[in-house]
Amino acid sequence: MGKAIAPPRNGAMGLKQLNFERMTKVETAIERLREYEPPEGYFLAFSGGKDSICIYNLAIEAGVRFDAHYSVSPIDPPELHQFITEHYPDVIWDITVKGFWKLVDKKGLPNRWSRWCCTKIKEKQGKGRTVVLGIRWEESIGRRKNYKSYIEQIGKRPPTYRLMPILDWNEAEVWEYIDGKKLAYPSLYDEGYSRIGCIMCPLAGQALMRRDAIRYPKIERLWWRSCQRYYNSRPQQQERFESAEEVWRWWIGKEPPNCLDGEAVLHNKSFNPTTNSTPVEDGANFEGESVEWPHTNLLPVNSTLCG
Ligand code: SF4
Repeated sequence: MGKAIAPPRNGAMGLKQLNFERMTKVETAIERLREYEPPEGYFLAFSGGKDSICIYNLAIEAGVRFDAHYSVSPIDPPELHQFITEHYPDVIWDITVKGFWKLVDKKGLPNRWSRWCCTKIKEKQGKGRTVVLGIRWEESIGRRKNYKSYIEQIGKRPPTYRLMPILDWNEAEVWEYIDGKKLAYPSLYDEGYSRIGCIMCPLAGQALMRRDAIRYPKIERLWWRSCQRYYNSRPQQQERFESAEEVWRWWIGKEPPNCLDGEAVLHNKSFNPTTNSTPVEDGANFEGESVEWPHTNLLPVNSTLCG
């Protein structure tokens, strides 16, 4: 559990400001939750992160019925699992995907053009329910474009809705709420994480993937093992890349040129990965199998830690 103030708070008191209806953002969020409460209660999607902590506690303040669900991800940090167990014991752990690493062997490393693991792990929750999500516009341009309103219908058969009570909050306001209520939060935030999610998620960017690789070497090995298996079983991949190491370096250490078309890069044999390519053969025996372990040695020399 976190104890001291570490994440950026920016001293914002945004939650106290009134809107045109003379309501604060907390009152507005509570109002949204009350307005759309379904007879069976909400399905509250809980990830253990700061936004989830907000929506969970706002739902309690609103006095609405809900059941909170954590979609179990085998690549979430263990600290997060521990936090949820300790502080939110009533959260239901839904296992949405089994045999995750076998799936990576089959489908390949996810990337920003193929986020198949998000679809499998995180985007199947709450069918036929009204799902409360801690999504915020501020998080990305895509979110502002894709989430037009704090309440939306996302499925017809069966009718499924999503409600995002803190869609218009910024990060400082989220922390203002957590601090104001003296709520516990995962200690990773005190260690410099501004977002907590899957270990070595390719959407997080090179510097954060590198940070995770160093902190969670076992998970790094599992990603690497799947990278090798996928490469070795796909003649098509072997035509495009010289080696599994080359695929790995592209995945972890190099944005595709102009960041325009990842598929083009995957298919372009002339793509020139960074050097510094000697893998460490540490003979690590991992789950009964000898795995070459790339760790930082396969990272480009100019990578920065925690960028
Ligand atoms: S690794 Fe990234 S893309 Fe995959 S499920 Fe996690 S957040 Fe989604």
